[in-house]
Amino acid sequence: MQAMRLHFIYPRWRKLLEDHPQLCAQLSAHEVGSLRMTSLGIPTAIAALPAGVTASVCNDHLEDACSVDPAGADAICIGFFTPQASRAYAIAELWRRRGYPIIFGGIHPSACPEECLNHADAVITGPVEGLWETVLADLAAGKLQRRYSGQPCAPFAMPQRGALSSGSQLRIDVLQTSRGCDRQCAFCVVPAVNGDGIQRRDVEAALDDCANTNHPAVFLADENLLHDDPNDVAWAQAFHEGLQRRRLRRWFTAAAYPRTLTRLNSERARAWQQAGLRQLYLICGYMQPLSRELTDGALLSDVLRLQDIGIECLATFTLGNDGDPAAVDDIVLPFWAACGAHLAEVTISVPFPGTARFECLDRQGRLLHRHWERYNGSWCVFVPRHGSPAEVEACSLRLWQSLYAERSRYQVQQAYVRGFGQDILREPAADRQDPGN
Ligand code: SF4
Repeated sequence: MQAMRLHFIYPRWRKLLEDHPQLCAQLSAHEVGSLRMTSLGIPTAIAALPAGVTASVCNDHLEDACSVDPAGADAICIGFFTPQASRAYAIAELWRRRGYPIIFGGIHPSACPEECLNHADAVITGPVEGLWETVLADLAAGKLQRRYSGQPCAPFAMPQRGALSSGSQLRIDVLQTSRGCDRQCAFCVVPAVNGDGIQRRDVEAALDDCANTNHPAVFLADENLLHDDPNDVAWAQAFHEGLQRRRLRRWFTAAAYPRTLTRLNSERARAWQQAGLRQLYLICGYMQPLSRELTDGALLSDVLRLQDIGIECLATFTLGNDGDPAAVDDIVLPFWAACGAHLAEVTISVPFPGTARFECLDRQGRLLHRHWERYNGSWCVFVPRHGSPAEVEACSLRLWQSLYAERSRYQVQQAYVRGFGQDILREPAADRQDPGN
């Protein structure tokens, strides 16, 4: 492979407080509404490059990607998911006019390759591992193909952590333990992008990667890990044993749906807690309406059971489910009060392209637009079954205000520390004085 250089760009995208600055006065003190996790996409793509190919990286959140000179790179590679797509297209158009070949990869290009090809010379769909040799040989020959398709079963590259500085307040790394999923949830893009079967990562490789993480807090990007399927249980057990054998201490957090909690019995929950699991990012309102999940008592008792074991739940309440009314204040707030938790989020259901939910809403003529920057959970981008988009958005803003009205900054920061460890915030929260207590 001849010496080449690629310039990678991570486009910026907007979070709640940028879209709704009227919430800043109340929420920014609690450090919610603006936090981002570091993406694994570009660090993985760089790690998979053949020897002799070098990379420069621009995080558009930290420096304007339209101004950072790619300095003669052989191509510009832009990795993004849906809320970044509009910005990615603008950046691509600018550098394309200046003669740079543009290559797209990531979740959105995998879900919408045809749309992306209006803005890029080539699109990589699915995992990039195993594709670079072909892509770069074609690039060197001036014969880029329009589309390259990755294989879900390709070996996992070890991400080059640190390649993409997050600039976020949230000091947390992401650890990939599997690729793809066979569960076909209507709202989820994973099966379409990474395959409709679960490819588990080699346990020792996952442990090596875990040892490379830059922060003590690590997000496990795979809620199936907590399930009671024998393969998931065996993998988790080997992972726990490996952590102990290597004396590798991390504070883990993992995504979970209410059904995940049901399937995580107390014995396995204790094993996970001893292995370092402190926080579950509990996603409510996607699998089932909030009016069903939050009111039958089972979820609350699971949340309290896990709290007793030492695993907190950071609930995210998703609005806009077809089975819910537009206003769900009287469903969410009593549940939140009964949990006694101090960290929660509100999001509006996002019909991501590539999902059955997106196709269904599109078929029904209920998608309002394709302004991808608004597919970020801050806006209602579809016509809800009950009420109007404006009513759903108003409920979201009301809930954000209500959730944090009664919580002092100190209480919220202590919840961060309990869930993610002392190092999670730039200024260790435990060192701060509580003005409200
Ligand atoms: S939401 Fe989770 S369980 Fe459902 S398809 Fe996506 S990755 Fe699989």
